[in-house]
Amino acid sequence: MALLVLSGPSGCGKSSLVNEVLKENNDIYFSISTTTRNPREGEKEGKDYFYISKEQFQKEIEEGLFLEWAEVHGNYYGTSIKPIEIALKEGKLVIFDIDVQGHEIIKKRYASIMTSLFITTPNKEILKERLIKRATDKIEIIENRIVNAKSEMARIEEYDYLLVNDNFKLTLDKFESVVKAARLKKPEEQIEQFRTAW
Ligand code: 5GP
Repeated sequence: MALLVLSGPSGCGKSSLVNEVLKENNDIYFSISTTTRNPREGEKEGKDYFYISKEQFQKEIEEGLFLEWAEVHGNYYGTSIKPIEIALKEGKLVIFDIDVQGHEIIKKRYASIMTSLFITTPNKEILKERLIKRATDKIEIIENRIVNAKSEMARIEEYDYLLVNDNFKLTLDKFESVVKAARLKKPEEQIEQFRTAW
């Protein structure tokens, strides 16, 4: 039972890293967010996101279904509570790909069992290059994502670890180390129980 929160600019390689560790581990639950943005080419409902309308999103906020939600790049993104609670009860490591606002909220609630990691590219030029190569967004959207990335970078200090994705294989190796460390994080009550029993 542990949480690993990943943040970082779109296009820095978070999804590819997560996909690699998911292949090797069946005791990890990746939190699939709900969003009001349109699916990109190749994205699948229920795998990358749950895609809903702004009205439906608003309704789910009012019904208290989200653990956290935020407006990012003009769209809404949120994490539903239910699947997270189930995965934690099953003793899984839950990985989130959420922005800095979501990280702040999750940290308040789960500090004692949470590890956080900020992932980014070596510089903004490489990020722009990757977003252009990915060819899933128009240039205005890419520019907007770069501006957003700069403001997210201002909050790196709030994270436990920083990973600069300059080489995928080496970065994956480091990412796997953070995943292992995240699993070892123990809540205070558990430490107390262990100490008493010991
Ligand atoms: P993208 O549109 O590139 O998939 O995601 C844009 C940004 O939204 C990324 O920084 C991503 O981490 C963030 N994001 C995705 N899902 C959530 C969520 O459920 N909550 C929050 N707060 N941010 C999210």
